[in-house]
Formats: sequence, C-alpha cells, structure tokens
Amino acid sequence: ISKRLEKFQTTIFTQMSMLAIKYGAINLGQGFPNFDGPEFVKEAAIKAIRDGKNQYARGYGIPELNSAISERFEKDTGLSVDSEKEITVTSGCTEAIAATMLGLVNPGDEVIMFSPFYDSYQAALSMAGAKVRSITLHPPDFSFSVDELKSIFSKNTRAIMINTPHNPTGKMFTREELEVIASLCIENDILAFSDEVYDKLTFEAEHISLASLPGMYERTVTLNSLGKTFSLTGWKIGWAIAPPNLTWGVRQAHAFLTFATSTPMQSAASVALGAPDTYYQELRSNYLSKKAILVDGLKAVGFIVYPSAGTYFVMADHTPFGFENDVAFCEHLIKEVGVVAIPPSVFYLNPEDGKNLVRFTFCKDEETLRAAMKRMKEKL
Ligand code: GLN
Repeated sequence: ISKRLEKFQTTIFTQMSMLAIKYGAINLGQGFPNFDGPEFVKEAAIKAIRDGKNQYARGYGIPELNSAISERFEKDTGLSVDSEKEITVTSGCTEAIAATMLGLVNPGDEVIMFSPFYDSYQAALSMAGAKVRSITLHPPDFSFSVDELKSIFSKNTRAIMINTPHNPTGKMFTREELEVIASLCIENDILAFSDEVYDKLTFEAEHISLASLPGMYERTVTLNSLGKTFSLTGWKIGWAIAPPNLTWGVRQAHAFLTFATSTPMQSAASVALGAPDTYYQELRSNYLSKKAILVDGLKAVGFIVYPSAGTYFVMADHTPFGFENDVAFCEHLIKEVGVVAIPPSVFYLNPEDGKNLVRFTFCKDEETLRAAMKRMKEKL
C-alpha cells in the first residue's frame, strides 16, 4: 500500500456493517436507509435504461442534470449559477470531495477542518499530499472558539472544509459561526469546501449554504449529492458547485478519476431533483418520527443524548455504562446487545476527544428502531 494510504484502516462503516452481519445485530451504524427511494425516481432510472441512455455521459454531467442541480441550488440559496460552467457531476459526494482536494489543493498545503470530520476528508487530502489542521467541536453544542480557530491558520493554509448539517454530531453551523468562517476565509484569502449532503434533513433550523454569504461564492466549492435526500445511497450521484476557475480544477481531477458518472442514474437524478416541495416536507416529517423514537429510546436506556439539529445521526455519551472508550462500548453493544453503532473516535484528529461518544443513525424503519431500543433496554 502507498505511503499516502498506509495509515488509514478499513473504513469504520465497512467494519461495522460487516460485524452487523456476522453477529446478526441491528445496524444503526452506517448511514444508509433500510427502506427504498421513491418510485418515481426508480421508474425514471428504468425508463432511462430502456430508452438507451447507456453510453458514457458527458464528463461533467448530462445537461438535464446540470440544469436540475442549478435550479435546485437557486431555489435553496438564491444564487444563480451557470449549469454548464459551474457544476460538475461526480460518482457520489465522496468523489466530489476527492476531486476537489486533488484538483485544488497542492502538496504541502494545509486544510482546516473541524473534528470530528467524515473519514474520507483526511484520506482524500492525504492522496493530494496535503495535511489536515483541526480544532475540536465539543459537546453538548459542538461549538468552537474563534481564537482557537484563528490559531491554526498558517501560511500554508489553502482551504477550510466544513460539513453542515454535520456528520456525526447533527450540528448545524449557525449564521454567526458561518460569518466568522467566511470572514477568516476572506481575510486569509483561502478557499472553502462545504459538504452539504444533509441539507434537506434539517429539524431545528434552516440550512444555510456557506456559498450564500457575501464574498463567499467566488471562493467556495459546495458539495452535495442525491443519496441522503432520496434514500438512494447506492446510486452514488454527487456534484460540486463552484465558480468556473475552481470548477476547472475539480473537473480535471474528475476527468481522470472516473471520467463520467452513470448515464441512466444521472437521468433519473434529474427527475428526482424536480420533486415537489411536498416530497421534502414528507421526508422531514418521516424522519422526525424516527428521530423521536431513537432519541426518546436512548434517553430511556440511560444515555446522555446530545441535540441533533440535522442529518440522520445522533451523538450520545455512553459513559453511564462504564466502558473504557467508544470502541469497547460498541464491541459490547454488538456482541452482547445485538445493536451496531459507530464509535466516533476515528473521526477525530485526536481520537481521545471522541472516546466518550457513540453515533447512532435513525435512517431505519420504525420497527427496526423500536427493536433496537428494546434490545438496549433489556440488555445494556
Ligand atoms: N456517510 C455514511 C455514514 O456516515 C457512510 C458512507 C460510507 O459507508 N462510506 O454513515
């Protein structure tokens, strides 16, 4: 294995989903729904295949999808972007993240992140030969100190990467926090990478795109995908929105990573993005009921549960149960209780910071969530 990747282990999601199967445990770990995406989107994919949309797509996205993404983005943010010059369709947001790092970050550069951060960020940066600098978001509200953030800027800082709504904490960056981040980006003349894949799963506050703040669009790459919003995580359709000069970097990396993304799935994605507002309302209200089952259940079992404003994740403190750390707790949970959760220490630059925490997902049908709660109530 290359030096770039030798320090990374099998992703925690793969590890945990394999254990779930091995022990017959209920999987509240990896964030994928155990229910299907909407019929009208699946039908659109089948139709696209039948209609012969089966050869390579245009590298940066089929025209219908680029247009649908720009319309959606304008509805959400008020920003009007050129669908031909400012949008790149990728194979999932994970590829968009990698293409952004590889296309816009130089070896030796530093990118600022907030721990905990999604595991692919650091691996993608490492492939780009660059380094993470990070400050930690602490419970209960996962806020940060502005002075601490300022202290990790250096002459090598190339960009700051945020994720809002935030996996794994469910935090949504407030307007004030985003304004601080924006002013630091502008002051230091650096880029911003904003992963917003959970933007439609918001329960407590309105989602704010970093790119929509004054002076930010021209330095921001906004990353998003279809998977979470349409419960189709296996389709791997993502995208990056950025001004033409930044898009050029992203597209060049994408061109040599995957060249293009599945044509019929892009066609169906363009249909999905035209969903009426009622689709998004229903999605939220379904997730609200699921979230209540998980949060109330965890509290009844004895966890300290931290508020989650968005995403389909909830962070809890497992220390009332007396385990040494998150990995030991999750191991017990799988083997003795029959429930899988994610030990979040792998998302921290300093794993110690996450050792008291455990992440659960509620993107499962209500029966599954109730069954998991019952197991925990009886056996934990
Ligand atoms: N984003 C999903 C999660 O956080 C996992 C995706 C993956 O397995 N790579 O659970």
